[in-house]
Amino acid sequence: MNSMSLKIRFLADGMLGKLTRWLRMLGYDVEYIRDSPDEKLVERAEKERRVLLTSDLHLYRRALRRGIRAHLVEGRKEAEKIAGMAGRFKLKLKINPESSLCPRCNSPLREAEASVLRSLIPASVLRKHQKFWVCTNSECGKVYWKGSHWNEIDKILEEARSYLRKNLRVKP
Ligand SMILES: [Zn+2]
Repeated sequence: MNSMSLKIRFLADGMLGKLTRWLRMLGYDVEYIRDSPDEKLVERAEKERRVLLTSDLHLYRRALRRGIRAHLVEGRKEAEKIAGMAGRFKLKLKINPESSLCPRCNSPLREAEASVLRSLIPASVLRKHQKFWVCTNSECGKVYWKGSHWNEIDKILEEARSYLRKNLRVKP
């Protein structure tokens, strides 16, 4: 059985670009729609059976009234938003590039040899890293590696895990 098909899928409104990228990195399928009327978002979530993500209380309530699963994204910092999602949907706050989706376009990634990336990646990066992942969507084709930004990613996920632990403790 393909476990991906059982995984929860999301649809994020135009305000949640950053959160969208985080969720995709964590391996969750997130459709991200900018500049769309609320009604269109609700319809699309319903049609594609996605959980609607929004920080707009009005849109959130509208989705619930229509019987659509929705999550009100709260918190100022990205780590808080991620923790809120993880608490409700039991998301794993660990990035495994083998199952990550492209933060830019939501397509699967595949591992790629440095030798085939020579024209796409600066030589200094190729020298320093062994593992690369390429977006399988040919229109995107973005290449990823665990560069210096990786520490920052780890830090934010650790922060999210600590928010999550705190939230779990205050719950009755
Ligand atoms: Zn991509």
